[in-house]
Amino acid sequence: MPVLVPEPHDPVCFRKDGKRLDGRDVDEPRPFSCEVGVIKNAQGSAVVRHGGNLIYAAVYGPREVHPRHLAKPDRGILRVYYRMATFSVHDRKSPAPNRRDNEISKVIREAIEPVLFLEAYPDSQIEVFIQIMAADGGTRCASTTAASLALADAGIPMRSMIVGIAAGKAQDKVILDLGDKEDKVGQADVPAVVVMKDKSISLLQFDGEMSLEEMKLSFKYILKGAEVIYKKQLEALKGKYETIRVNAKKESEEYQKSVKETSQKKPQSLLDTIVSKKTEEIKDTKKPKEDEKVQKSKKEQKKETKKGTKKSKKVTKKKTEEKAQKTNETIENAPQKDSEKGGKTK
Ligand code: UDP
Repeated sequence: MPVLVPEPHDPVCFRKDGKRLDGRDVDEPRPFSCEVGVIKNAQGSAVVRHGGNLIYAAVYGPREVHPRHLAKPDRGILRVYYRMATFSVHDRKSPAPNRRDNEISKVIREAIEPVLFLEAYPDSQIEVFIQIMAADGGTRCASTTAASLALADAGIPMRSMIVGIAAGKAQDKVILDLGDKEDKVGQADVPAVVVMKDKSISLLQFDGEMSLEEMKLSFKYILKGAEVIYKKQLEALKGKYETIRVNAKKESEEYQKSVKETSQKKPQSLLDTIVSKKTEEIKDTKKPKEDEKVQKSKKEQKKETKKGTKKSKKVTKKKTEEKAQKTNETIENAPQKDSEKGGKTK
């Protein structure tokens, strides 16, 4: 359940045992997990869970630039869209992008640009869409981590992976990876993006007050935290390719098995197959088809029944003619008898 922080904020960020309110040490990052290839329609995608942050990143491109006049003939352009869902924070966030969204989009773009080979994509653009589903402090850093994963998942060549993580200060102590409350009530916030190949910094912002020593300690913590997250990034990417490798191995084994089975059967030359096919075709044409047979037998039956009826008609005609003849004879004979009778009476 989300903890609602009352206004004005309670400045306490440590427990009596010296640990932070969520039980972490000062140099301990929040729990982190990530996954790639989570959005089917994107060229590359990632989901990151960093503390209470839940962030999706999707990459499209390199593709045509719209509007066309933004295209650069000598290099590609990178466009980043950082957006917070209305339900991602305690107070309802307006769905329209605000000044903060645009500012964070810009700083994330500037943090990513140095690791991309944009000169390889003239007249093209690469777009990174970042959606904050749940916000818990440090969303710009976690968004950069997610964007880096999504770009790698999209197969876009990069000089190095990048990791975003913040350090800061609360109750006069330097701390790593500030949570939402620490971010709001702390004395300083130093969000940074580390280029993991050479440990250079591609984004550094600063808000609050810190001594030089505290700043140095902050960088030490940032590099430590970035290493932890970088390992998880690599695991996620390797995990995806491991499943692809396992599936590909399975498929090739099945294919080899089927090839073996077919090769074990007696090999048939092309000529043989053609000859056997042709002989089957000839057999088929010689054999009357089943339907034709049935139709023929039906026709024959009809003919026979017709013949039968004709014959029977002939027989009955003959019989009736014979009957008629007989009756005629009896009629002809009858008056003669009468006349005979009459003659006798006369
Ligand atoms: N926040 C908020 N409403 C907003 C913007 C931010 O509640 O409209 C919260 C959110 O949890 C965010 C935190 O304030 O993570 C700190 O915001 P900040 O501007 O410092 O950026 P972030 O630390 O997230 O990069």
